[in-house]
Amino acid sequence: MTDARDAVLVLNAGSSSLKYQVVVPGTAEVLAKGLVERIGEDGGPDGAGVPDHGAAMSVVTDQLADAGLDLGRTGLRAVGHRVVHGGPDFSDPVLVDDAVVADIRDLVPLAPLHNPGALAGIEAARAAFDIPQVAVFDTAFFTSLPPAASTYALPEDIRTQHRVRRYGFHGTSHRYVSRAAADLLGRPLESFQQVVLHLGNGCSASAIAGGVAADTSMGLTPLEGLVMGTRSGDVDPAVFTFLHEQVGMSVAEIDTMLNKRSGLKGLAGVNDFREVLARADAGDGDARLAFDVYVHRLRHYVGAYTAVLGGLDVLVFTAGVGENAPRLRAAVVETLGRLGLSVDPERNEAPSHEARVVSPDGSPVTVLVVPTNEELEIARQTATLLDTRHD
Ligand code: ADP
Repeated sequence: MTDARDAVLVLNAGSSSLKYQVVVPGTAEVLAKGLVERIGEDGGPDGAGVPDHGAAMSVVTDQLADAGLDLGRTGLRAVGHRVVHGGPDFSDPVLVDDAVVADIRDLVPLAPLHNPGALAGIEAARAAFDIPQVAVFDTAFFTSLPPAASTYALPEDIRTQHRVRRYGFHGTSHRYVSRAAADLLGRPLESFQQVVLHLGNGCSASAIAGGVAADTSMGLTPLEGLVMGTRSGDVDPAVFTFLHEQVGMSVAEIDTMLNKRSGLKGLAGVNDFREVLARADAGDGDARLAFDVYVHRLRHYVGAYTAVLGGLDVLVFTAGVGENAPRLRAAVVETLGRLGLSVDPERNEAPSHEARVVSPDGSPVTVLVVPTNEELEIARQTATLLDTRHD
């Protein structure tokens, strides 16, 4: 039987799925992981669904027992919950209690697709486990954005009454990766300026000054910014009015179009970056355009954030595309040589799953590939909160 007393159960609950990992924060060892899908589908012809998050949590505990983690005997240290939206005030992880649950519920209008799932996961875990539960917010790292970066140029009532501002997302990843970059380089985090490009299905860029977030590409929602798998990223907001008034699309239709049918999928017909590359190589013009638009937007943000930071020391690529697509990395820096950016072809193309430098020695800007690990970051932040609390 594995001793899991130091381990944290990290939960990432969506409205219809529950992803989990049992992680030992000190060693980064993963004791178990899995995914329960089709929550809300009671049975079905193949019997694969589960009715609610409570039932999904029972599946998790069964799977943990199968993996040799008898929670009744060895216990776990805590549960760490990924919560997408923490609003303007949750700048750090918090111990979950009824007041915190109410605060997360209060933020549902700002994240109607994400926070309800997280709340259902928290409720189910609180019912299943008598151990501390910690909420770690995807927005927390970006509560440090200066007002100049977090404020939309909108009327006062819209900004204050309706809380319309830039929040930023993927913060757990940006925080983890920016610290891992400092570890890799053996330099104090405070001593350099970096841009982190998190390029997965969702994509975001951040400008980080001495470890503190100074700007980020996602805004009120995760729709703003870079071109993503199925999300458009930046568009003129007047596109919305135009499509509504001139084409007769409803608000819901436009929202779905921008979030689910745009980005790489809208341009190339597929959202998987590997497939975009394969089709572009096979001579597909739409896929070529998709690649070019994706790269153009990335160069645009790297240039803008270099200006925001007043100069750049380190550029970091992370997540599925950033970690695994050397051609994309090379294309992004190709026109940025005068900003001090380049990659060494051999380093850039060498297959590796480790954090590594891919720019030439002596390059004015160091280009890194750093694998992200949001579960480990959540486990660490959970453990740190509990350590501080017991002091
Ligand atoms: P998520 O945001 O869902 O966590 P990931 O970080 O796993 O997503 O990234 C998924 C993306 O990474 C997909 O577009 C996938 O095509 C891309 N990807 C994964 N491996 C490679 C690869 N070897 N080359 C290019 N793209 C890759």
